[in-house]
Amino acid sequence: MWSASSSNVSRRSDDTASVVDKTFPMTNEALKEHLRFAAELGVAGVSRDPAWRSRVTTPEAAPGVEDNNASSGTERESLSLIREDIGECTRCKLHTLGRQQIVFGVGNPAARLMFVGEAPGADEDVQGVPFVGRAGQLLTKIIEAIDLTRDDVYIANVIKCRPPQNRNPEFDEIATCQPFLFRQIDSIKPSVIVALGKFAAQTLLGTEDPISKLRGRVFTYRGARLVPTFHPAYLLRNPGSKREVWEDMKLVRTLLSEQ
Ligand code: URA
Repeated sequence: MWSASSSNVSRRSDDTASVVDKTFPMTNEALKEHLRFAAELGVAGVSRDPAWRSRVTTPEAAPGVEDNNASSGTERESLSLIREDIGECTRCKLHTLGRQQIVFGVGNPAARLMFVGEAPGADEDVQGVPFVGRAGQLLTKIIEAIDLTRDDVYIANVIKCRPPQNRNPEFDEIATCQPFLFRQIDSIKPSVIVALGKFAAQTLLGTEDPISKLRGRVFTYRGARLVPTFHPAYLLRNPGSKREVWEDMKLVRTLLSEQ
């Protein structure tokens, strides 16, 4: 069932992948890079406790997601057309609940790597740019940890308007806004999508599974590899989970190098 691979990802015939831990033993060069990566993500130290090491073990292979949402046409709709279509949106109640502006998305319109978050917060609402607050600064570090910049990737959210008091997006708001995200994905056609946190992962994968069950797995989605990981805001509250995100980003880097 498993095919051999020179990378640390073994591909299954059903197009899902499983990470094989090849962290140890490693060369000096690989170790240096490993530590630099950890430092970038704020990992403060290492432990000789074998239990600590074993947290980097092989995640369960995912059952894979049917790619039945992919757009069939070859014509790419431009991002500017999608933005124009959104206009000064009044399609859901968020336009009456204090949003200052629509936060459409930012980055390279032909990015190979796309990040999808949940919804704009206060800073994003003021600046009109996703992920510019504290969580955004951490996301920038995460991107730079795999030797990319924000200009290399594309960053968008499931919903484009700030929910009041940063409350969770509601079902009707997600349902109204998600078609625009899907159109953005079909326009950009990234090779890899990182779903940041529960809302992004559940919306894109059409599941109610918790993020803890989704992360560590690779899905096929709209022609891209989709890697769910923890939201940077969650990492700010739970810095211990940076280690898992680091593993996820190494997987992203491998997936990007394969295509
Ligand atoms: N959190 C998100 O999910 N998106 C943003 O743009 C900012 C914070």
